[in-house]
Amino acid sequence: MEKVLEVKDLSVQFKTYRGIVKALNGISFDVLKGEMLGLAGETGSGKSVTSQAIMRTLPENSKIAGGSVLFEGKDLLKLTEKDIEMVRGRSITAVFQDPHTYLNPVFRIGQQFKDILLNDPAISSIKDKKKREATINEKMTQSFRDVKMPSPERIIRSYPHELSGGMKQRVLIAMAFSLKPSLIIADEPTTALDVTIQAQVLRLMRELQKKYHTSVVLITHDLGVIAENCDRIAIMYAGRIVEFGDVKTVYAKPLHPYTQGLMRALPRADKDAQIESIGGTVPDLVNPPKGCTFHERCRNVMDVCKTSPPSPLFHEGRIVECHLYNEPLGGS
Ligand code: SF4
Repeated sequence: MEKVLEVKDLSVQFKTYRGIVKALNGISFDVLKGEMLGLAGETGSGKSVTSQAIMRTLPENSKIAGGSVLFEGKDLLKLTEKDIEMVRGRSITAVFQDPHTYLNPVFRIGQQFKDILLNDPAISSIKDKKKREATINEKMTQSFRDVKMPSPERIIRSYPHELSGGMKQRVLIAMAFSLKPSLIIADEPTTALDVTIQAQVLRLMRELQKKYHTSVVLITHDLGVIAENCDRIAIMYAGRIVEFGDVKTVYAKPLHPYTQGLMRALPRADKDAQIESIGGTVPDLVNPPKGCTFHERCRNVMDVCKTSPPSPLFHEGRIVECHLYNEPLGGS
């Protein structure tokens, strides 16, 4: 299947007063056309840094230490600032965690939406002002209908504070899909919402993603959300992807001890089922542990894990990075 995005061996570092934080350490994954890929892991695993690196919105104290981000055949890391702006907001758009932060409180929704639509040369090049405004209005109305918002005309005239959190997130989703981008990065899009609204918003994103055959990277710490919505999953730990594969395959039999720990920590319908936490905390990425970065928390740790970092290998239908599956111990 066609690849929309291909991240290869990407490393990102941050310069801090404590030293260099090695936030991403050679991650590789791809996103196929029309799929929803879940990026999961604890806080500090590198999920959001990955999205910032793809969008080229990393903070100033960061450095791309290596790798490439191929999007529709172009390496985004090599584009000039002007060229990346042509991609960002048009071919790649984003939905963020907190809709309150991303909508400007002093402008009406219609004005903010219009600014986004003007990124599309097919709209901005319409010379006749009346015709251009009519096209913009038509697009906005259609986009609000897509996200099932009642009375789009009222929303267009509203200020952000006049809308609930769920409505604001629908506005952001409408904006993200409005220019029919190839890729949407949704970074914890429902974390700031009530549980009942979360399910509605995710269902909506899934519907639109299928309708427009858009590729989506869904970043979340919630494995339940990924199980319900995603096609494939990449589990991140300490700036590495430790398990990557089809959602059904990985959930049916997680192989990496960290993935297994995350699964054991999932709440279950069975009231007698035990929820177990993963002991310890994510390592300090200024001075990460030698060998496998998970070894201090791993139930299956072996001597080799403390000295030698495991390499990714294909095993039982997915990519996993763990010495347990190295020949002759695991075998395929
Ligand atoms: Fe555990 Fe070793 Fe596998 Fe790391 S490489 S996850 S320490 S078994």
